[in-house]
Amino acid sequence: MSIARSEYTYCAPTIPTKLRVVRDGDAVRTAAPGELPAVVGAGLRVPTLTGEVEYANLDHAASTPSLVSVKAAVDTALQTYSSVHRGNGYASRVTSAWYEQARVEVGRFVGAREDDLVVFTRNTTDSTNLLARSLPRGTEVFVFETEHHSTLLPWQQARGVQVTTLPVPSSIEHALEDLASALAASVASHRLVVVAGASNVTGELWPLADVVAVAQRHRARVLVDAAQLAPHRAIDLAASGIDYVAFSGHKLYAPFGAGVLAGRRDWLDSSAPYLRGGGATARVSTDGVAWATGAARHEGGSPNVIGAIAVAAACASISAHREAIEAHEASLAERLRSGLDVIPGVDTWSIFGDDHDRVAVLAFTIERFDSSLVSAILSAEHGIGVRDGKFCAHILVDELLEDPWGDTPATAVRVSLGLANTAEHVDRLVAAVAELAANGPARRYTRTDEGWVADGDERDLSLPLPW
Ligand code: PMP
Repeated sequence: MSIARSEYTYCAPTIPTKLRVVRDGDAVRTAAPGELPAVVGAGLRVPTLTGEVEYANLDHAASTPSLVSVKAAVDTALQTYSSVHRGNGYASRVTSAWYEQARVEVGRFVGAREDDLVVFTRNTTDSTNLLARSLPRGTEVFVFETEHHSTLLPWQQARGVQVTTLPVPSSIEHALEDLASALAASVASHRLVVVAGASNVTGELWPLADVVAVAQRHRARVLVDAAQLAPHRAIDLAASGIDYVAFSGHKLYAPFGAGVLAGRRDWLDSSAPYLRGGGATARVSTDGVAWATGAARHEGGSPNVIGAIAVAAACASISAHREAIEAHEASLAERLRSGLDVIPGVDTWSIFGDDHDRVAVLAFTIERFDSSLVSAILSAEHGIGVRDGKFCAHILVDELLEDPWGDTPATAVRVSLGLANTAEHVDRLVAAVAELAANGPARRYTRTDEGWVADGDERDLSLPLPW
């Protein structure tokens, strides 16, 4: 096999000094300090059975709308859009510089240690799978059954890895005790504790400092699934001792397609590349392949540059407006919880107890109502978007709900708040749930293959194609 000289050398992801982007603190602010960053699509009007209302998007935990600042960053980046690490043209060098600068921005967002890697992935699921494939042989993984499937399942297929699954705990104390005794019993050469920063079902926060303390006592590393934490609370790898963090851009006010795995370099540098191919190699010859080290090793193929820039732009804006975001969400979450708490027949669900600290995510049920019917009614009659079901956390939801009303499925409705929400959205949801629990829906609904449909639903759900 003959290989042209230019293919031998991997273009290391350094930032050309002359093209280094100078960060302008104000560029990431779409609002004054103390104000909230604006989202794309705010004020969207949607049809209901009887008219039209402003859309109340109470489903931020699934995907957030994009920030206006993210859209602006993407528009700017598209002007010079070109290949990364593969060209010497001006646009290619600018794009390469921005791609690497995006890595720096994300590293700053998660408080990365100097030697940590920031790898761009597709989403949280991709990040946990990447780490699963990077674990040294002989690693034992400790994971609670409370976890989202994307954090619970990847370890089971990893070669040379043993998984210890810990039951849904009844309290934080039990969780930490269970974890400590499982770790103490482990004879594995490497240990990894996997835990969500915030539950995607109940919004409850795991006490990460305590988890890290227990893990470190037993020489275990910690991966935090921050899919639901990163949009709401600051993360600091260096200060907290957390070893790895994974999250998704599309839950952090960037569009779909890019996620992050950040953390310790050694396991990632020693494992097989995630995708074998161009970009992941240091040298290729007829004698074999030397794989790159660093993030490039696991970013084979042309990377999602625009996705990475979008994630970085979101990180920059969220950091710049952190206090305002937290205050906004705390006040809406309190309004929501206190509103739902007093409605007869409505239950809200918790792993650790009602008073446990949480982000603005809440799961509720209405006695004897199928949750998918509730979400269909909220949409059809009130223009409200929520999610229903088991939220890819089947074991947790089955354990929490435990078949409460015989033939009604053990599913819940999830309300998750964020930057697209106003107090009016929350009040509308609370009033709608109160009305439903007391008097039932305004129309008759029939279950069809496409879910629950209201009698006389003439909403036109078709829009012209966006392209
Ligand atoms: N972990 C948690 C806690 C989540 O909420 C989600 C998404 N619902 C995931 C992991 C998976 O994220 P993604 O679908 O972006 O890979």
